[in-house]
Amino acid sequence: MMTETGTMTDDQARDEFRKLRHISGSGATRAEWMKAVRGRLGDRAASATPAEWVAAARMATTKCEKCRGTGVYWWGGIVFEVDGSVKTPPKSGPCYQCDGKGYQDQDDYRRNYGYIRHMIANAC
Ligand SMILES: [Zn+2]
Repeated sequence: MMTETGTMTDDQARDEFRKLRHISGSGATRAEWMKAVRGRLGDRAASATPAEWVAAARMATTKCEKCRGTGVYWWGGIVFEVDGSVKTPPKSGPCYQCDGKGYQDQDDYRRNYGYIRHMIANAC
């Protein structure tokens, strides 16, 4: 559930920011994500309030590494070592990590984060 940032205390905003940063780890490194958030704030970064950082964090997107920003995920395909010809053509489809956008936003991070946790829970 979304909480309006305008009604957040600074402490609540800091907690929310930490949550967003944690969840973003499913699709981006901390440095990449922080750079994207700072980019949203631009010149205001130095004087931004915690609530403004949260607003920027919710908007921040990073390039999807799964599909290298193309939005298309390829799999399969066997290449002959000798002449480089493709024996079995690779298959492709919309990248499931970014929903075919080529970049990931908070919805993607959250979905993938839940998925990764589910996989880990099943593996243990
Ligand atoms: Zn992708």
